[in-house]
Amino acid sequence: MKVTLFGAAGNVTGSAYYVQSKSCNVMVDFGMFQGEKSLESNNHNLPPINVIQLDAVILTHAHLDHTGRLPLLIRSGFVGPIFATEATIDIVGIILRDAARVQAYETMRVNRKRERIGEPPLQPDYNEDDVEKVVSLLTSIPYNVYTEIAPFCLARVRESGHILGSVSIELTLEEDGNKKIILFSGDLGPQDMAILKDPDPFYIADLVFMESTYGDHDHRSLLETLKEGQDIIKRAIKQKGKILVPSFAIGRSQQLMYYMARAVHRGNLPEIPVYLDSPMAIEATKIYSIHPELFDQEATELLKLGVIKGDLSRLKISETAQDSMALNDIEGPCMIMAGAGMCNAGRILHHLRHNLSRPETTVMIVGYQGYGSLGRRLLEGAKTVKIFGEEIAVNAHIALMGGLSAHAGQTDLLKWFDKVASSKPILVLSHGEDRGRKPLAEIIEKRYGMKPVLPEYGDVITI
Ligand SMILES: [Zn+2]
Repeated sequence: MKVTLFGAAGNVTGSAYYVQSKSCNVMVDFGMFQGEKSLESNNHNLPPINVIQLDAVILTHAHLDHTGRLPLLIRSGFVGPIFATEATIDIVGIILRDAARVQAYETMRVNRKRERIGEPPLQPDYNEDDVEKVVSLLTSIPYNVYTEIAPFCLARVRESGHILGSVSIELTLEEDGNKKIILFSGDLGPQDMAILKDPDPFYIADLVFMESTYGDHDHRSLLETLKEGQDIIKRAIKQKGKILVPSFAIGRSQQLMYYMARAVHRGNLPEIPVYLDSPMAIEATKIYSIHPELFDQEATELLKLGVIKGDLSRLKISETAQDSMALNDIEGPCMIMAGAGMCNAGRILHHLRHNLSRPETTVMIVGYQGYGSLGRRLLEGAKTVKIFGEEIAVNAHIALMGGLSAHAGQTDLLKWFDKVASSKPILVLSHGEDRGRKPLAEIIEKRYGMKPVLPEYGDVITI
């Protein structure tokens, strides 16, 4: 039996594990490479696999870097099934439809340039029709139950605490009467993440693929992070300005809304209007609300008490562009959450253009800001920025609420691995750059006397 890594090997995107035995071929995740230019060319072409022989795909969660290449399989003749938890199935559609729209837009932009220099137009890698075909192949898999997903291949999935519906996957494969267990951690969340239950580990395996994004350090404590956020918000309320929060639509937005509602409930913050100005975040929030069975104990209690409300009635939502524009005229203090998370596109740009020059405005940064992004420039203290070709003075207060993460830090990764370590598996540290995986590998070697494998793209692990 063997597993080939077609992504997330020495880097953090493009997760794809091709599992092969004499009886079956299964792909675990098939994600897009993002922001890593040398790898992005892999988004256009399939890796060397025979799609016709592929029995099934199984997904750890819905994020684009775990699902974004699925339409390529469809284009090459794959007819399913694609196994995922119910919540993941609900979210994958939103994410892939958005990805197809972004591709269509980007291709149009590039083609305009190509036309000017006499080059033939490019085609997007896939379109919304391909996405609908992916969605039609999604097949739900229950938690904690053995499910046969391919000949002589049983899958069992458990909570991984990263986003709604995210799981770790255990595959039990049989070949010539020999059984082997392969574990995929998927993206692991930190302990005590808002709304979601903590990761639920496995105990026995022959081969383990564990993510190592933040294998080199622990995040700052959640308490400190939340205190910092509350201080930023209290200061902004005194200024009577708008608090603009660039935020990712799925996961981070819901996490923030939860913390806001809880802080008000506990008397740590006064209630101010919270506007969710993102159709994708509104859609994602509705999906959270139809899966209360995945909430942790605290979220379940707050839901019962009506502190958080499944029907979004606590929030003011802006579905249309007009709703969004109307926010220009409202008075602070209030909070406006809008995408994109790094301020490189989306409705947040309109709010920034309108409000950055006002000293009473606060921009609260709550997530990673990539190099060169507008969000990064604001954090670096730019005095002016260009938005839609217009030079805007930055007089607003730019504040960072660092420390929120949907990924486990070093201690939590080790805690997950510790449960399966005594079964002495081969450990492969995937989904991590050297910065994250090397320090983690050193600790594991010292603690458990095993040398983890640090793979590169295309490497094959045989058991
Ligand atoms: Zn993820």
